[in-house]
Amino acid sequence: MANVTLTKVGKVYTGDDGASFRAVEAVDLSIKDGEFCVLVGPSGCGKSTTLRMIAGLEEISEGSLEIDGTLVNDVPAKDRDIAFVFQNYALYPHLTVAQNIAFGLETRRAHRSGLIAALTGAGGARRDESQAIHARIAEVSKTLGLDALLHRYPRELSGGQRQRVAVGRAIARDPKVFLFDEPLSNLDARLRIETRTELRMLHRRLAATIVYVTHDQEEAMTLADRLVVMHKGRVQQNASAQECYERPANRFVAGFIGTPPMNLVDGHLKAGTFTANGVAIALGAEYARLGDRACALGFRPDRVKLVAPNTTGSVAASIAAVERLGDRTDIALDTPWGRLVARLDADVARSLREGDAAGVSFDSSHAHLFEAGECGGRI
Ligand code: ATP
Repeated sequence: MANVTLTKVGKVYTGDDGASFRAVEAVDLSIKDGEFCVLVGPSGCGKSTTLRMIAGLEEISEGSLEIDGTLVNDVPAKDRDIAFVFQNYALYPHLTVAQNIAFGLETRRAHRSGLIAALTGAGGARRDESQAIHARIAEVSKTLGLDALLHRYPRELSGGQRQRVAVGRAIARDPKVFLFDEPLSNLDARLRIETRTELRMLHRRLAATIVYVTHDQEEAMTLADRLVVMHKGRVQQNASAQECYERPANRFVAGFIGTPPMNLVDGHLKAGTFTANGVAIALGAEYARLGDRACALGFRPDRVKLVAPNTTGSVAASIAAVERLGDRTDIALDTPWGRLVARLDADVARSLREGDAAGVSFDSSHAHLFEAGECGGRI
């Protein structure tokens, strides 16, 4: 396994008309040996391009990429000792599960036909090589729970099983680094959750260095040792999932990480009081030192309390929607601060109905403040 270090890595695409587009800008990233690093961000933020540059499938326009201290900018993909698992598993339909897993070994050994022959028992593959391949397939299939499926063809597998075969093919090679690009996005919601747990357990067993791309922040948070939140080609925060959630570095991260998203309100802070659209809430003396400034106030839905209408220190609200989710209930609220969301215990929310009036209150010790603007920094 290996360390992966990106220093000021950038990517500029140039179209046929000569126009250039900067997809990735000045990415600094140091992924430690055995770390599970997840690149997350909305569509088009540059996460796949970053991953493809690490893989060697995309040329690096600027900066340097090192694997275990060796500069690999100009090393071809096949010589980087990296395994890539894509969203569409790209299994060979005419090969069995065992043969597909063995295919991962192909680039290591010069002759694919020899490999396949070794598996089918045909041709003149050497006995010791055949045994080594069989042993490796047995090991990998046991790790992934594919033992019973080795003789099936991809068309005879479920989506989740196919995905595991694709992972098996990557593991078989025992590469330095695993790269995953949205590997779960073709699975249904339940299978996605099951498979991501399996991936996390697999990572622990293999102690592998993994770089994983997803647009799904919940998937990212559950998998990552290190979460790298990207937006518009730039890294917005590089920290643990917990840190990104509890202390988002800027307004973008605050709005992106967390379900339902953090409530964010543009307004003005003065003498410790936050005002937006003519409605003022005193945040407390400790906010007075932050001066007189335009800013955005953030508070998570699970920090909201609904109080009686016109309660002092609350924002007047009308309940727009009630979503009952079993143990908890999400309440959408129309307020002078715009649409806000409260996540309440189901018991607390039991009597609430759409159209009811209420007051929105929150604990200011759990409030976040950000500079004005889409990526305004944490204050
Ligand atoms: P998604 O989740 O939709 O795959 P992403 O975050 O992985 O998005 P990238 O695929 O890295 O985003 O693309 C980043 C930006 O670069 C996008 O605006 C995309 O349109 C652009 N881009 C990607 N590939 C090319 C290309 N070959 N030529 C020009 N622009 C490209």
